Amino acid sequence: MSWLVRPRLVNGPFDDPGLYLDFRFGRRAILFDLGDLTPLSSRELMRVSHVFVSHTHMDHIAGFDRLLRVCLHRTEPLTLVGPSGFIDQVEHRIRSFTWNLLDEHSIDFRLHVMEFESERLVRAAEFHARDAFVRRNGVPPDYLPGTVLVEENMRIEAVALDHGIPSLAFALREELKVNVLRGALDEMGLATGPWLGGAKRAARRGEPDDSLIDVGRDHTVPLGELRRRAFRIGPGQIVAYVTDAASHAENHRKIVRLAEKADQLFIEAMFLEKDRALATATRHLTARDAGALARAAHVKHFTVFHHSARYLPDPSSIGREVRDGFEAIPA
Ligand SMILES: [Zn+2]
Ligand SMILES: [Zn+2]
Repeated sequence: MSWLVRPRLVNGPFDDPGLYLDFRFGRRAILFDLGDLTPLSSRELMRVSHVFVSHTHMDHIAGFDRLLRVCLHRTEPLTLVGPSGFIDQVEHRIRSFTWNLLDEHSIDFRLHVMEFESERLVRAAEFHARDAFVRRNGVPPDYLPGTVLVEENMRIEAVALDHGIPSLAFALREELKVNVLRGALDEMGLATGPWLGGAKRAARRGEPDDSLIDVGRDHTVPLGELRRRAFRIGPGQIVAYVTDAASHAENHRKIVRLAEKADQLFIEAMFLEKDRALATATRHLTARDAGALARAAHVKHFTVFHHSARYLPDPSSIGREVRDGFEAIPA
């Protein structure tokens, strides 16, 4: 089955965290975290529609200025989601620049900013370039608990982990994938047309086999027949991103639930076991934790990142402990 997004870390594993999710279609991208964005071109940043920020320690938000500067020249809005207090922080950052050159003739770039707290989006505000980015409070969308974005093909889930402060972890979940077998449509005497999009949506939503699909020219076909003969249906892609989380049972439970069966998990591995006291004090995961969590979540692939610079002289020590954690028999 083909992929919906191609995810890649923005920086090397010893540098700022950040994951760029490049969509296969639609010239679009999503970012998880907003640290140093130097490796991304302006063209890549122009494609970013949404940014989900774990927390606002500087290594996770320092790329905001560059992204804003690039996006000022576009008409599509940019949506930012972060933890409690995020809207005030974005507003303060915006207010730290001078905007006297913006007026009603400027490009109408808009920032939508929302806060996720206690499993929901609870606050929203907009900032429009044409009013020199004056804050306008709004109402966030009413999604199911644990959800920060819902679109036709996918949704993004969030969970607040304990990092001394809330640190949000995210997972992109593609809905069921429905591929159409053209030969089978021909055999059934069906021509492709706008009806096909509706039929695929019905299959993705899991509608019953006896629902009738209008295929044009006053004909209907039961959805079940399309499912059996003309559709190949498989699970969608799952990409999970976990960073800056204390190593304790409650966080572990939340991480495993979020990342369960992910195709790709990106997970922090800040410290080695010999520095576990430091990991506990600064509320970070160790390399061993990362391996054990990837195993417990039954992920297909995982990548570790956000390593302490103290291990730069011997980076292979991190890989060894990740493998130890992955191979240990779960308790
Ligand atoms: Zn942090
Ligand atoms: Zn960090």
